[in-house]
Amino acid sequence: MTQHFIVIGNPIAHSKSPDIHQLFAQQARIDIEYSRQYCPNDTSSFAAVVAAFFHGGGVGANVTVPFKQMAFDLCREQGGLSEHALAAGAVNTLMLRQGQLFGDNTDGQGLVHHLRALKWPLDQARIAIIGAGGAARGIVLPLLQAGAVSITIANRTLTKAQQLIDELSLVHPNLNSADLTSTAITALNGEYDLIINATSIGLTGEALPLSQALNSAYAYDMMYGRPLPFLQHFAALGAATSDGLGMLVGQAALSFERWTHHAVDSQAVLTALSH
Ligand code: NDP
Repeated sequence: MTQHFIVIGNPIAHSKSPDIHQLFAQQARIDIEYSRQYCPNDTSSFAAVVAAFFHGGGVGANVTVPFKQMAFDLCREQGGLSEHALAAGAVNTLMLRQGQLFGDNTDGQGLVHHLRALKWPLDQARIAIIGAGGAARGIVLPLLQAGAVSITIANRTLTKAQQLIDELSLVHPNLNSADLTSTAITALNGEYDLIINATSIGLTGEALPLSQALNSAYAYDMMYGRPLPFLQHFAALGAATSDGLGMLVGQAALSFERWTHHAVDSQAVLTALSH
């Protein structure tokens, strides 16, 4: 029997999720239909789309920009949330559990999955994250759980970086003991093991105002699909680099596994998409 899935977003035409999930379904030898679902950018439209999908027998929905926060609020009101969704304050994966809406967030674990596949060291890593939006928030807990020893969050608007740390510490009291600090992007300097660009600047083609005294052995940009100034900057300094396509595939693999209980080989799908 065909199982039905959607990805809800606005815009949504560019989404690679249907292709990625069809490749997973081929691996798992199951029959799925996975569609892009456009939704007007308001809470009631989003709630209506989600309700119609699950009432119609849908198995799972991914949620992308700008609905991850709305999905979080909907699950908090109507159902349940995973530990990772609570820490991220956002939901990218919806399903039903005992008939109730349940929200998870696989973005941060998808990143860790990709970093491990790249064999980049995370244990005891000193990490800098640039950006303090939803994407940055979603990766802090998974990176700490993967062994990071300190995380510095640098943001254009400094108050938002500190606010992110304060909010995470409230949701996750264990984080109080973690070495989390905030700084302005221009004041970020020194040696890191890993630096991650979690800003949306890649969309504009602008370059971040990085200090000359900033260096990192590994550099990761959550954006993908074109030459990224952030990665070019650190590659010129000798860092190993990666864009965020592997994170996209990694988060999709975890959603697929949650929905279908089939484990998949995300590296094979990443290789297929990269050619
Ligand atoms: P948000 O809008 O929540 O946050 C944007 C962040 O970028 C803020 O920290 C903002 O700083 C910063 N920023 C934007 N423009 C500039 C600029 N010109 N200079 C410096 N900083 C800037 O976005 P998200 O956190 O949701 O997403 C961030 C990126 O991560 C997106 O590009 C998204 O596509 C990508 N992403 C990739 C995923 C993947 O699977 N590969 C998964 C999820 C996200 P300020 O606070 O000062 O405004």
